[in-house]
Amino acid sequence: MGLEICAKCGLPKDLCVCEQIVKEEQRIKIRTEKRKWGREVTVISGLDKKEVNIDDLASKLKASCACGGTYKNDQIELQGAHKDKVKDLLIAWGFSKDKIDVT
Ligand SMILES: [Zn+2]
Repeated sequence: MGLEICAKCGLPKDLCVCEQIVKEEQRIKIRTEKRKWGREVTVISGLDKKEVNIDDLASKLKASCACGGTYKNDQIELQGAHKDKVKDLLIAWGFSKDKIDVT
């Protein structure tokens, strides 16, 4: 078994910070929207789907907020109002606090 090498920077995976840099570069918008019958959804947008595994992120958010949700049209929708919780989770997972806009 050799070392796993990052295809982007050429460093061994345990030294590579590409994933961290990508996360810190994401400018994320979190907002809530009212849907039919006054249902609220939390919408997370602005993620770069070429760089971030949004499917994976969506399932982690759903599990952490214990709610249903979908990923479509390049944005994640979670059922219910979870703006603050989502922001805290994203920061805990390495996204940059300064680049998350909650509106
Ligand atoms: Zn790398």
